[in-house]
Amino acid sequence: MPSTIPSSDDQPADVDAVVIGAGFSGLYAVYRLREMGLPHRAFEQGSGVGGTWYWNRYPGASSDSESWVYSFTFSPELEQEWTWSCRFPEQPEILRYLEHVADRFDLKSCFDFNTKVVEARWDEAARRWRVQTAQGEEVQARFLITAAGCLSAAQVPAIPGLEDFKGDWYHTGEWPHEPVDFSGKRVGVIGTGSSGIQSIPVIARQAQHLTVFQRTPNFSVPARNAPLSAERIVELKRNIRKIRETCRWSTIGQPYDWRDQEALKLRREEFLAQLEADWQKGGFEWMFGSFKDLLTDREANEIAAEFVREKIRATVKDPVVARKLIPQGYPIGTKRLPLDSGYFETFNRENVSLVDLRETPIERIVAEGVKTSADVHALDTLVFATGFDALTGPLTRLGIRGRDGQTLQQKWAEGPQTYLGLATRGFPNLFMITGPGSPSVLGNMPTSIEQHVDWICDCLLHMKQSGKELIEPASEAEAQWGAHVKELADATLFPQTDSWYMGANIPGKPRVFMPYIGGFGTYRKLCAEIAAKGYEGFLFA
Ligand code: NAP
Repeated sequence: MPSTIPSSDDQPADVDAVVIGAGFSGLYAVYRLREMGLPHRAFEQGSGVGGTWYWNRYPGASSDSESWVYSFTFSPELEQEWTWSCRFPEQPEILRYLEHVADRFDLKSCFDFNTKVVEARWDEAARRWRVQTAQGEEVQARFLITAAGCLSAAQVPAIPGLEDFKGDWYHTGEWPHEPVDFSGKRVGVIGTGSSGIQSIPVIARQAQHLTVFQRTPNFSVPARNAPLSAERIVELKRNIRKIRETCRWSTIGQPYDWRDQEALKLRREEFLAQLEADWQKGGFEWMFGSFKDLLTDREANEIAAEFVREKIRATVKDPVVARKLIPQGYPIGTKRLPLDSGYFETFNRENVSLVDLRETPIERIVAEGVKTSADVHALDTLVFATGFDALTGPLTRLGIRGRDGQTLQQKWAEGPQTYLGLATRGFPNLFMITGPGSPSVLGNMPTSIEQHVDWICDCLLHMKQSGKELIEPASEAEAQWGAHVKELADATLFPQTDSWYMGANIPGKPRVFMPYIGGFGTYRKLCAEIAAKGYEGFLFA
C-alpha cells in the first residue's frame, strides 16, 4: 500500500497532460513531466504503484529479464544505491524497488490512486482530452499519455459454469494482496504460458494435489536463478553504464544479441554443442543470444526445438506424461518463451497430474471442480493462468474516443494501426507508451519504456517551444508503418503460430502480429531520426 494516498480535492481540473497508470511507464512519465514543469494529473486504478508487479502477485511471479537490466536507467544515483538480491528478482522485490523509486523521487503525490479512468474523449472545439474517472471527476488535458501496460487486461476464458464452482478461483494477473494458502488443498491450474510455468512448481510444493490443465504444450528454458554474490554486485555496479548502453542498441534490449552467424552454416554437432553451452547459462540468451536464423529458418528452428524436446524427455520420468508435455507443430520461440525454475521436474512429483485438454477438453466448470470429456476433476481452488488481451486490450478498455467520437475499437477493428506504436491518426495529442507497432513486449520492458517516455517528452518540449498545439500521424505515415511492421513479421516464423502476439488467444480478435520486430536498437535510431527531421510523418497544428 502507498504510504500516502493524495486526494484529488485540491488538484487542478485542467492540465497539460493526463497519464494513466503507475507502473514503470507511468512513474517515469510523471517524473519527466514534473522535471519539465508541465502541469499534469496521473490516475491509477490500483491502490499503489507497481503496474504489472502490483497486480501479478501469484506464487513464483518473477522477472524474466536480469535484475541489473530490469530497472530504471535515468538516475545513476538510483542505480548505485539499489542492490538486487538475485539474477531474476521475484515480484515482492520488484514491487519494493518501484515503491522505493516512487518514494525517492516523491512520485506518489503525482497520482490519484484507486481511480479508474472510464472514458477519455477528444473535444475538438476545446482541443482538449476530457478524461472521466469512475469516481465522477472530469479532468481536461491537452495531451493524453497511456501508461497502461501491454499485458494488463486479464483474460478469464468463457468456460461455462464458473459461477457454479464452490471453491475459490483466481486469475494470475489479478492476484489478491494476501498470500493464498494452498496447503491441504486440491488445486487446478488452467494454462501453461509464462504465468502457469512460473506458478505451477511453487503451487505443487504447497498443495495436497495439483492438476495442471494443459491445452498447448509449451517450450521452456531454465532460468537458473541464483543470488548475486557481493563480488558480482560490485562488478555489475562498476559496469552498469556500459551494460545499459549495450541494452539500448541491442535487438531485444538485453546486454547480448544474436551471433552474427547462421546455425545452418555450422555442422550439426557444432550447432548442438553451442545450444548446450547456451542452455547452461540459463535465461533468454539461449535463444536471443544465439544464431540469427533461429526465428527465421524453420529447419534451424526445428533443430533447436528438438534439442528442448530431448531435455523434456530426459527430465520427465513417465514417458506418457513426457509425451503430453512435448510441444509439436509450431516453431520454438514464436509463442513467448517462458523461463522456468523446475517446471518439467514438477511433473515427477506424486501430487501432480497433467490433463491434456486436446485429448479430453473441458466441457464446463461444475460445483466440485472441472468437468472434462472424460472426468470430473475435484478441486478446492482453481487458478486461471490464461493470459491477457495483449497490447490493444489495455488501451481499448480505457474508453478512448478520438475525433468524431470514434473509439479505438472501431479504428482498430482490423488490427491496431499506429505510427511507431506511439500515436494513431484521428486521436490527436494521444501518446501510447509501448503501444502496438513498437518493440514493447519483444524487448526488456524498462528499456522500451524509457525510450518512449523520453521521445514523447522531447516531442512535448518541441511543441511547447515552437508553439504547436496539436500532433497526430499523417495517414500515409501510419499506413507505411503498418505495412513495414507486417513485412518484418512476415519475414519471421512468428505469424505461423497462434499466440497472443497475433491476438489469437482472444476470440474474434484480428489475427495480426502486433509488435515491431525490427529490433530495439534499430527502432530507437529510427525514432531519433524522425524527431531530428522535425517529426517526419507527424502533422502539427
Ligand atoms: P499466455 O502466455 O497467454 O498463456 C495462457 C495459457 O492459458 C496458455 O497455455 C493457453 O493455452 C491457456 N489457455 C487460455 N485459454 C484457455 C482455455 N479456454 N482453456 C484452456 N487453456 C487456456 O498467458 P501468461 O502465461 O499469463 O503470459 C502472458 C505473457 O505475460 C507472457 O507471454 C509474458 O510476456 C508475460 N509474462 C511475463 C512474465 C515474466 O516476465 N516474468 C511472467 C508471466 C507473464 P493455448 O496456448 O492453447 O492458448
